[in-house]
Amino acid sequence: MNTTLEYALKLDEEDPLKAYREQFLFPQHDGKNCLYFCGNSLGLQPKTTRNYLLKELDHWAEYGVEGHFEGEMPWMYYHKFFAEQAARLVGAKASEVVIMNTLTTNLHLMMVSFYRPTKQRYKILMEGGAFPSDQYAMESQARFHGFDPEKTIIEIHPRAGEHNLHTEDILKAIEEHGDELALVMMAGVNYYTGQWYDMQAISKAAHEAGAHVGFDLAHATGNVPMELHQWGVDFAVWCSYKYLNSGPGGPSGVFVHEKHGNNPDLPRFAGWWGHDESERFLMKKGFIPMKGAAGWQLSNAQIFSMAAHKASLEIFDKVGMKALREKSILLTNYMAFLLEELNKKGHTFKVITPEKSQDRGCQLSILTGDNGKKIHFYLTNKGVICDWREPNVIRVASIPLYNSFRDVYEFCKLLGETGEM
Ligand SMILES: *Cc1c(COP(=O)(O)O)cnc(C)c1O
Repeated sequence: MNTTLEYALKLDEEDPLKAYREQFLFPQHDGKNCLYFCGNSLGLQPKTTRNYLLKELDHWAEYGVEGHFEGEMPWMYYHKFFAEQAARLVGAKASEVVIMNTLTTNLHLMMVSFYRPTKQRYKILMEGGAFPSDQYAMESQARFHGFDPEKTIIEIHPRAGEHNLHTEDILKAIEEHGDELALVMMAGVNYYTGQWYDMQAISKAAHEAGAHVGFDLAHATGNVPMELHQWGVDFAVWCSYKYLNSGPGGPSGVFVHEKHGNNPDLPRFAGWWGHDESERFLMKKGFIPMKGAAGWQLSNAQIFSMAAHKASLEIFDKVGMKALREKSILLTNYMAFLLEELNKKGHTFKVITPEKSQDRGCQLSILTGDNGKKIHFYLTNKGVICDWREPNVIRVASIPLYNSFRDVYEFCKLLGETGEM
């Protein structure tokens, strides 16, 4: 690798996914595309999304209520048109996945089924400093069951002076709390550091301890390849507006392993859309869940936000996680290299994201000095959109679907101009 523009242009030329960039709408700055590195917060809009939404508006206009049964994608069965594509993203069977609601809502619904604390076994193990919504969800679940969150939630923190967790420390904590542990609930990829946890090893250890294991994949789905079914994960939830480019507040995905999905006796909060489809409109008493993750649905599908999700899933399906991941590794390593070169020239950009590709997705979290806010301000004024997190971290995600090597080059060039701040 080297630091020249020519090199970036050569990598773009050789990029098998280069054409996909043209399929997305970039915010503009001074008449040019922004350098957009915030796809880990809100992914860009595919150009096809508008038509997917218009199609459903037209469908509604044309059929009214009959739209539930008419057309290519009748609303009555709408969730079914997502299962296979979404399942491919996370390494699941189609019956193990359903698209519904929003992320935190689904996290609570999963807790109803998979957090069943007893006096002896009631603890929840999670990473320290998890995304606030997850913290609040766990805290309120503990209280709901009559437990003190302080004594119920075990947070694992990095070793002194470090930013990331060692897998062996996570496994040790699981083992240590063994027979008190009800649930291991972690992110797949940490939102702050970008660390990708060893989900397979964590799942195995949790099960050996006799606990359930669930993952929040908000920063993992569409970012890193996974095998949820094979790893034996009990449940997982994710959102679709970050890496999955499905628009603000887009619908969430849920994975329930088939070892649980076909168990009608598993406690759950029920609604009519999870009820046996053949009887749904008989309006009679007695909930009979559908098989698989679909049996956790409550309400009829939110067609418009799901239509936007469909537009995005079509693109993911065409590219495939394998090709996406290959480019992602190159792109992220390239950025890490350029940052390293800047440091050789006297800058102090400390990347706190793990160094090895196997331990990260495409996000790099850059720890700055006290001048971090000024740097972020400078970048923003130059048309960079990236994320600032208190107290001093700039998070940048180079998204393989639409970021180019030149984007990364230009970003690092701008960073290099901040030396005197
Ligand atoms: C983005 C994110 C959320 C957001 O939750 P919503 O219910 O979609 O608002 C929750 N948890 C994690 C880990 C996230 O990254």
